[in-house]
Amino acid sequence: MSVTWRSSRGGPETGFEEALLRGLAPDGGLYLPVRFPRLPADWADAPDFTSLAATVLQAWLGEDERLQEICREAFDFPVPLVTLPSGVSVLELFHGPTLAFKDFGARFMARVMNDTLSRTGQRRTVLVATSGDTGSAVADGFAGLQHLDVILLYPAGRVSPLQELQLTVERPGVTSLRVDGTFDDCQRLVKAALSDGTLAGRDLTSANSINIGRLLPQQLYYLEALRHLGDRPLMIVPSGNLGNLTAGTWARETVDADFGLVAAHNANDFYPRYLRNEAEAYDFPPTVMTHSNAMDVGAPSNFERLDADGFSPADAAVSVSDAETLERIRTTFSEDGYLACPHTAVGLEAAAGLSASGRQVVVLATAHPAKFPEVVSQALPGAMPRAQALDDLLDRPVSVRDIGSDYAGFRELLLS
Ligand SMILES: *Cc1c(COP(=O)(O)O)cnc(C)c1O
Repeated sequence: MSVTWRSSRGGPETGFEEALLRGLAPDGGLYLPVRFPRLPADWADAPDFTSLAATVLQAWLGEDERLQEICREAFDFPVPLVTLPSGVSVLELFHGPTLAFKDFGARFMARVMNDTLSRTGQRRTVLVATSGDTGSAVADGFAGLQHLDVILLYPAGRVSPLQELQLTVERPGVTSLRVDGTFDDCQRLVKAALSDGTLAGRDLTSANSINIGRLLPQQLYYLEALRHLGDRPLMIVPSGNLGNLTAGTWARETVDADFGLVAAHNANDFYPRYLRNEAEAYDFPPTVMTHSNAMDVGAPSNFERLDADGFSPADAAVSVSDAETLERIRTTFSEDGYLACPHTAVGLEAAAGLSASGRQVVVLATAHPAKFPEVVSQALPGAMPRAQALDDLLDRPVSVRDIGSDYAGFRELLLS
């Protein structure tokens, strides 16, 4: 049995493959499971992460002999759970090739999509708007796959130089566009193209965190932490578009064991204010630039999923300032000997302000600190975090094209 899907705005039910290939539902809504699957009672006994992944994804997608192999290929890196001297645990999600948790979603989605397309001889062009880490994960995860091309859009001047290098190194089948605008502009362009009937012949699809192909594998590490920690840990999720948090709420519905979920935001604090009844649903403020730029999202697209009838929101949400983020990088380094990226630091700061009442607190470490040398060295002068995967990029050729933020120009480019 596999899960059927429906739009957050109504619409008819559909299967996984159609939802995966479409990205957005035809009515502009986001796909939601009609019913949550239950994991088999012995799910926590899986011998390793790859087996856990196959067990979980089979509960959603049905029995498929390829799934085991796709999981082995996609999740070929470790997922360490590190407990710091202060007692907080850090779930390190940054050991994939582009050093951020986005590798889980992108690598799985790329393979399952390529597999689906290969069965019917189809092709797709994947559109992806990125505030930094998504684009490189998607570009890396999808590059060179036979049935897929990628067009990625990122906001000019709003990603770090290193992130930009990751986004623009030449990769087979990948085109990088630098947009004169914000992340929300990039996302608006992608949404407009995907719902533009006159582009139907271009076989476009999305790979943003709205796509269920990315959300489904993001459940896996919550369950990995849960099976190591036992019942009722409190998981803190550094959040922007709320895709990661949504995946956590879904994972929670599939097992008997429970865990808490806290969304940790930077100054883009719509969701914390919404949960405190200080903001109306969908009354999104403009995006604010912060030190944790992969979380600079004024209008989180997955909010529509968390807000849907019958789906659970986070238990709590907090907002952390840039000053607090820098201070938390410093104290975590001096007190725990641990160097955190600015996004992870937002989570650690949220953790420090919570009363966990004896529950084990787990902060999702969403990126490697070496991706953000400017912010890390601002907090800790002289600190130079390094990662081999980044050093290796320095010799590779780059390629990028500049575009404006108006839809007409983007549409023309897609038609050419
Ligand atoms: C994307 C990203 C986030 C935010 O995740 P969402 O699913 O958009 O809420 C947090 N930290 C890092 C490093 C990211 O790349």
